[in-house]
Amino acid sequence: MTGKVKSGLQPDTILGHAGRDLTAHGGRAINPPVVRASTIVFDSLADWAAAAPRRMEPDFVQYGRFGTPTHFALNDAIAKLEGAHAALCLPSGLAAIVVTYLAFLGPGDHALVADTVYAPNRNTCTGLLARIGVETTFYDPSVGAGIAELIRPNTKLIFLEAPGSLTFEMQDVPAIAEAARARGVVTAIDNTWATPLYFRPLEVGVDVSLMAGTKYVVGHSDAMLGTLATTEAHYERIKKTSHELGYAVGPDDAWLALRGLRTLSVRLARHHESGLEVARWLAARPEVARVFHPALPGDPGHALWKRDFSGACGLFGFELKPVSEAAVAALVDGLELFGLGASWGGYESLVLPAHPEKLRTAVPWDGKGPILRLHVGLEDPGDLIADLEAGFERLRAAGG
Ligand SMILES: *Cc1c(COP(=O)(O)O)cnc(C)c1O
Repeated sequence: MTGKVKSGLQPDTILGHAGRDLTAHGGRAINPPVVRASTIVFDSLADWAAAAPRRMEPDFVQYGRFGTPTHFALNDAIAKLEGAHAALCLPSGLAAIVVTYLAFLGPGDHALVADTVYAPNRNTCTGLLARIGVETTFYDPSVGAGIAELIRPNTKLIFLEAPGSLTFEMQDVPAIAEAARARGVVTAIDNTWATPLYFRPLEVGVDVSLMAGTKYVVGHSDAMLGTLATTEAHYERIKKTSHELGYAVGPDDAWLALRGLRTLSVRLARHHESGLEVARWLAARPEVARVFHPALPGDPGHALWKRDFSGACGLFGFELKPVSEAAVAALVDGLELFGLGASWGGYESLVLPAHPEKLRTAVPWDGKGPILRLHVGLEDPGDLIADLEAGFERLRAAGG
């Protein structure tokens, strides 16, 4: 048992075995230890001099900021899962997004970014990227191969997210990746929703696959983490950028992510089932205008989801028929099992109001009613439905 997972294994097996090199530490415990380190000492001046150029290697320990064996175990497991040359962990999902932009874009460059990306990602484009002279065009997520017409001579990066944040629009990822490759443009995708268990971006030609590991990888709402996986052609540039930004992940957080990974598949299967059960129930409610969930057969993105994805997580949204703010508050504030808070991907259910009308520019939002985003956790779905049903009663009593 060396932890050198052979190729050809199924993802569920990779989750159990990758990143567990028993020969790398003395105890032969099942799990790698948390290696906390800033300074790493060397035996000789010659060893020290030889170390610096090796920093870019995926598992070479030179200084704590560049990672310890705990980080390398996680990176290795993520790389195996993604089918990537190598992977990196970053201090947050947003940090992984920022590294991606700064690795491939500089003054005078142009980026194409899906209109439906995670809102803080948009803020990075209109803020940081604009300040350093990068122009961003937000594109309609339904563009497909039509992305080719938006590519300019100075377009260096296309950033995708499928399904989209808050409203869950699908994208034709393979078509966009193909159009980009044909023109030498790098593609990156935020794959937090599907994880590489349900969608494998690198297999359809995307260059960089990233996740907010904070969500399903960590899986227990107790650590912040980002992951980036990429091809040999792009790895060094990305790692160098992460070093230049000074990013470092705490080894305890890397260890929590590695622990979370072991159960990712069984948790996601349950999120998938329970999420769909709650989504179907919501779709039949008279108070609900529409449910945004690409795994529902009536969803506009269903055909793409079915073609490219093998599952869904527990995150989706729904639009209420127009009601007062007070009625929405009566529904949400009284929920007992859905916590009101940012993030998702933990074992627990969450609810959050969403406002795509404040964000979208390529495709102005056409909804009329308030939108709620749900994260369906690992609780019994019948109990979650009963909690929502009581919420709808409060909504009606409040005049909604
Ligand atoms: C939460 C989230 C992020 C950011 O992750 P953090 O770890 O919170 O920085 C990025 N993308 C998506 C889709 C997210 O949901």
